[in-house]
Amino acid sequence: MKNKKKMISTILIIVICIVIVILVILGIKKLLGNNIKLSLGEFNITSTIDTTKNLEALADTTVVPKSTSATVPIFMYHFILDDYGDYPDTENFLKPETLEEQLQYITENGYETIFIDEMDDLYKYKKPVALTFDDCFVYFYDNAFPLLKKYNQKATIFIITDYINGENYLTEEQLKEIADSGLVKIESHTKTHGYLDQMTYEEQVAEAVESKERLESITGQEVTVYCYPSGRYNDDTLDIIKDYYDFGLEMLGGICNTDNLEDYYHITRIYANRTMSLSMFASYLSQSNVSVEY
Ligand SMILES: [Zn+2]
Repeated sequence: MKNKKKMISTILIIVICIVIVILVILGIKKLLGNNIKLSLGEFNITSTIDTTKNLEALADTTVVPKSTSATVPIFMYHFILDDYGDYPDTENFLKPETLEEQLQYITENGYETIFIDEMDDLYKYKKPVALTFDDCFVYFYDNAFPLLKKYNQKATIFIITDYINGENYLTEEQLKEIADSGLVKIESHTKTHGYLDQMTYEEQVAEAVESKERLESITGQEVTVYCYPSGRYNDDTLDIIKDYYDFGLEMLGGICNTDNLEDYYHITRIYANRTMSLSMFASYLSQSNVSVEY
């Protein structure tokens, strides 16, 4: 009897021990499981950080090419308007439907519209093209701006600041809306659109500085490109604008090749006139090219 009791208590102790051991094992397993999960989580987080760092490092190494050589068609437009009325320079009036055909061609053939202030960042592109609009008037807002938005393409426009809010010209509100779109950079076409090469040094300073300040106060964006009215300028012009602007635009001169550029104050353009055919437009585009050496 005594032995039987002893046996039962021994079995009970063994069972209790087994239960305790099982509970301990389960507990340890649970703890281990959490730890594994935790370390996996940590691994994932660490891994993400490392990848980001690697990408940043990779971007850093690709940022500075040794040299960039590019051919960029830069088209010069004036007024986007079907009916030019009594105006004599009819070639300056491009039909909205022609601009639409050109934008469609650019989009469908993978050309990349750039702003003029990206002319020193061309290594970022493969097939760059620039669309520039001189003088503009309200026709830009009515007929060109909606098409740029429709095709999501960039342009640079040159504004005569004394004309702002005047008859048939762009208002400050329109300029702000255009700049805020992010698709159009607003740059200077002087204050008065006079012949710079016939002005005194002081008059030229006023043209360059006051137009820049006015546009910057309207748009809140930096103005870095100067477009010489009628393509006329002299040594004073270049001397002055090098202190205030990063780029200067000629009226003509043909397709722009960076290897042939004296500097960024002599950027050349192609006249996109009313009678330019789509095949002519396309043949200029086909010369777009960027080659980069690291
Ligand atoms: Zn002009």
